[in-house]
Amino acid sequence: MPADAQAAVGLLKELRALTSDEHGAQRLAWSPVWLKARAWFQSKLRELPVEHHYDAAGNSWTTLAGASETALILGSHLDSVPNGGWLDGCLGVIAAFAVLRRIAEEYNGKPPITVRLVDWADEEGARFGRSLFGSSAFAGTQTIAEDRVRTDAFGLRLEEALAACGVSIDSIGDAQRERKNAAAYIELHIEQGPVLESMGLPLGAVLGTKGVERHAITFHGQEAHSGSTPMRSRRDALAAAAKLALEIRSIAGKHPDAVCTIGSLKTFPGIVTAVVGRCEATLDQRDLDADVLAAMYREAQQKSSQFAQEEGCTVEWSRIWNIAPEPFHPALIELCEEAIRETAGRSHRMPSGPLHDAAEVSRAGIPTVMLFVQSLKGISHNKIEDTREDHLELAIAAFDRLASKTMDWIRAS
Ligand SMILES: [Zn+2]
Repeated sequence: MPADAQAAVGLLKELRALTSDEHGAQRLAWSPVWLKARAWFQSKLRELPVEHHYDAAGNSWTTLAGASETALILGSHLDSVPNGGWLDGCLGVIAAFAVLRRIAEEYNGKPPITVRLVDWADEEGARFGRSLFGSSAFAGTQTIAEDRVRTDAFGLRLEEALAACGVSIDSIGDAQRERKNAAAYIELHIEQGPVLESMGLPLGAVLGTKGVERHAITFHGQEAHSGSTPMRSRRDALAAAAKLALEIRSIAGKHPDAVCTIGSLKTFPGIVTAVVGRCEATLDQRDLDADVLAAMYREAQQKSSQFAQEEGCTVEWSRIWNIAPEPFHPALIELCEEAIRETAGRSHRMPSGPLHDAAEVSRAGIPTVMLFVQSLKGISHNKIEDTREDHLELAIAAFDRLASKTMDWIRAS
């Protein structure tokens, strides 16, 4: 008896109707609409023989107690970015609900191991700029001192927004208690990229989340008059930055899954009659392999120095942020591929460029894997975010199989 995928898609539509407006989903974390989504979700749990509570970081935990306390965790997040899509996060929570209901029915309310469903608090970080809030508290990687003073667009502090939802920022670390007895974590999510669609595949097994190196790079040249300064005597900071902007394509191109992006470039004085004296760029580099990431970072630094020299400029780097790659568990990746092949025929292994709660869970040492379903046109965080309905049903069916396989794996290990 498989999980009811059609009913799950119906619930996703119900949630969309309840929490979206003409601009898209509005389930911004710690907002009334988000609380409404969570209350709606809790109302759906009434029919199940489960225990429910919120932990110290506001994560929502639903537990179907098994013969053993050892637990399989299924999860994702109900929060969305402003004007977001109907599937990012919700799909994983609703699929987990469908699977939990199937397991409860199959084992008459008492499966051999405990199965838990988590709806992580504030995955997106869209309001206060702190992504993976609840899952990082669970993993013990939370940063209370930095987060306490974060404010939203209206100047409201994160600490106050949490308090309004019954969460005290000083105790969020207590969410680590939920790690007790956790034996594995699995999450279904939309791909949010174009790879599966371009391959004509509905589903993919995720190898892990890419690490990120994010830097500010400033080239210093010499401001000079655009009319009186001959071309050969210029020290044009933009020229050096522009060479780097093109070079990162070949730096990333040496590695199959690597990406490098210069997302921002500012010129000073930034007027039509002056050679650029200072140019500020940002660089974002990502790969699943820590050695590849380190090599790309080194190469970008070397090239930036070379280009600065060629243009009579100097360059300085400062790190904005970085995070290590988080490879998922090899045995669970195998099970995920098996589940995909049995459901959809062909599978594909792929890294995730975006970060996910699953990376935090994995960082806490809990065997983890994610399953991706194709995103139409690779678009997410937008109201046009979509996935074919037959693919959604395949995804839920494959996730259901993955849950059964992971339960067997936990019992055998
Ligand atoms: Zn998400």
